[in-house]
Amino acid sequence: MLETEIIKRGDDSGNGTLIKYTSPTGAVIKAIGVPQSWKTTLGPTWCYVVEGAGLTLVDPGCFGSVSYLEQGLEQLGHSLTAVDHIVVSHGHMDHDGSCPPVVRKSGAELWAHEIYGSMLQADRWEMEMGWRREIQGFQAFETSDTVASVREHHELNRRLTLDHPVTDEHQAGGFTFYHTPGHSPDELCILFEQVLFSGDHILPLITPHPTVTMSYTSFQSTLPAAYRDRNEIYGLKALLTSLKRMAELEGDITVLPAHRAFHRGVLNPIGLERATEIVEHHRNRCHELTDIMKAGPMDLASLTRKYFSGRELEEQNFFLAFSEIMSHIELMQESGDVSVTVDSANGKVWSNGLGPGVLVRWEGSDLFSALIDRL
Ligand SMILES: [Zn+2]
Repeated sequence: MLETEIIKRGDDSGNGTLIKYTSPTGAVIKAIGVPQSWKTTLGPTWCYVVEGAGLTLVDPGCFGSVSYLEQGLEQLGHSLTAVDHIVVSHGHMDHDGSCPPVVRKSGAELWAHEIYGSMLQADRWEMEMGWRREIQGFQAFETSDTVASVREHHELNRRLTLDHPVTDEHQAGGFTFYHTPGHSPDELCILFEQVLFSGDHILPLITPHPTVTMSYTSFQSTLPAAYRDRNEIYGLKALLTSLKRMAELEGDITVLPAHRAFHRGVLNPIGLERATEIVEHHRNRCHELTDIMKAGPMDLASLTRKYFSGRELEEQNFFLAFSEIMSHIELMQESGDVSVTVDSANGKVWSNGLGPGVLVRWEGSDLFSALIDRL
């Protein structure tokens, strides 16, 4: 296990907090709680500072918050201009948003998965949003300030160059990179001295949002050649496969996540067992969905509303809940537990066979569980 010392306390969720971790092998890793630049209960992105062969930052943090990163680095005795490498866990705004200013001020080399490089160049917003526009409440989201930031971030990041594209099990600079797609197609877990930087792949307290397999169709032609044959990078199945793989890594490994390492005043240390807990969370969610579908065929929006009925779903975040449910239904279509019928009077069918006017029906089986076991 890691020895942990809070060097400086920030707020209760960890914004502005500095933590020093020392591994049993004597390696020192420092963490900066870099605040998000939009209103959220997520808490900061934990940016990890590794002083080895040069100064490396793992996830510089959210678009619009580089001043907090700079301040944290100064308090740790480093100048932002001295950063040698940036390692990005995946291309979401709260992780790689500060890449452009850090690269500009330091000339740092950018390291990430090779899919990250292709995503930088793609017209991501339009490719991601097509089907989402057909989901209720999406318009409110698309015109929000958060989305304005996401789009600005995509545009600025298109000018970045991926200096050091990595692939699965690549080793360099003391790091071993594992490609762990599912939450994001380019997600990496990064092993350094028995410490696994897990990005959003393995998180304490919360679970990463799965992508949907349907997104593969949108991005297929923009991916590096090795990923164009079949989908192993989008959807719940990809996420569960990656989680099970990380759970099986050998050694006394401590996980350092990008979120919730500290929350409500307490540290949340985790190990690889958390990856298994997340797999079981999704298996359980499939079971809970079969319970709701017992009532008879229903469309995905009704299923989403029934599933989350105990919780308040903000209109503009409804699509997040909807796509979370859709990722589970896609898995249960593959396992043969769910069939669909199209209500032709009521709209479109998407490439995954689902859509706003499609009714999903439970077949009375739980084959998904065996499918998860086989991954
Ligand atoms: Zn994140």
